[in-house]
Amino acid sequence: MEKWLILREFLILCLLQHCQYCILTLTKGWVSSYRGGMMELTKTVHMQSSSTMSKVRLCIVLPCYNEEDTLNRTIEEVTKKIRDLESSGMIEEGSHALFVDDGSTDSTWKLVIDAHEIYPDKVRGVRFAANRGKEIALWAGVCEGRKAADVVACMDADLQFDINALDAFLAHYYEGYELIYGIKRNRGREPWLKTIFSAGFYKIMQLLGSPVCNNHTDYCLISKNVCNALSEYEETYIIFRGLLRKLGFRQKGVYFNVLDRQEGETHFSYSKLLSLSINAITAFSAVPLRMIAVLGLFVFLVGMLLAIYSVVVYVMGTPPSGYTTLACSMWILGGMGMLCMGVVGEYIGKLYIEVKRRPRYCISEQTDNKDCK
Ligand code: UDP
Ligand code: MG
Repeated sequence: MEKWLILREFLILCLLQHCQYCILTLTKGWVSSYRGGMMELTKTVHMQSSSTMSKVRLCIVLPCYNEEDTLNRTIEEVTKKIRDLESSGMIEEGSHALFVDDGSTDSTWKLVIDAHEIYPDKVRGVRFAANRGKEIALWAGVCEGRKAADVVACMDADLQFDINALDAFLAHYYEGYELIYGIKRNRGREPWLKTIFSAGFYKIMQLLGSPVCNNHTDYCLISKNVCNALSEYEETYIIFRGLLRKLGFRQKGVYFNVLDRQEGETHFSYSKLLSLSINAITAFSAVPLRMIAVLGLFVFLVGMLLAIYSVVVYVMGTPPSGYTTLACSMWILGGMGMLCMGVVGEYIGKLYIEVKRRPRYCISEQTDNKDCK
């Protein structure tokens, strides 16, 4: 009898647990379907707001310096891409490419003029009187481009950056991002030393507090607000990609594939890269100056310890000897002193250039005068 009672108790318990499980599963199902429904609703509302957002007129800025070998192909690809984006309804009619000839000495500018004659609405160009570097060319392109467009995209003129990534850039723009910047997924064909150099540069910039990330590029799409904010920066030494992110607008990174350069050579030799990196670091941060003070303090403390050691050893009756140690110390300290003066000089040199407030570039020619001050 007792056995039957225990069995009955056990069966009731099982039944109760099963009921509890069923209720829980049902509730979970309702909650998740409710959540799913809400998410769908939010997505639909979001998509509707994106699709109702008016289409924008795009200007693609391409800095070019001695790119005669590659420019015709670039012009064909860029104009085709703009037409495709226009016909798919991603951008408005009237979008165009703006080639900024950074004082080329080959036939680059002639190719731009010829292209403007063939595609007057799609290709515009401005030409600097002298070579001012890619950063300034980009900045100038953005300032010119914003006058006839709602959004500006920047990309290299050698077609190394996958032009189709513009679709993703635009999609994020319509989602509400104001700065969409490209990050290299791969680095294409390049010497291993350049890869190490570039990784080191980004590491130093990050340590100094710059918002640049590894493999960050100048390939980007920016809203008119960002263009206007950028145009307010009047300094001569700019590091375009760092400055953009520093502005602080709603931003998003997009990975894209880097292709090998088809024609022509890179314009950035190791010495030019080193000079650019020094400019970028000293233009961005004053931390190296503070590091000099820390280094000076460290050297002073080492000197004090050595002096105390010498006195103690002298008192103990074994005077310190060592011409070599003395000579080494002199070389090391002398070298450190000169290095520190060099760093200080770098900043003073920049101050000297900045206070002169010379124009960063002079435009010598342009394909048309419309919308240009
Ligand atoms: N560029 C420029 N001014 C310069 C050097 C380069 O406008 O003084 C342009 C160049 O024409 C190209 C882009 O900057 O459109 C990137 O240059 P490059 O391909 O030589 O650089 P890399 O891809 O090797 O970093
Ligand atoms: Mg390139």
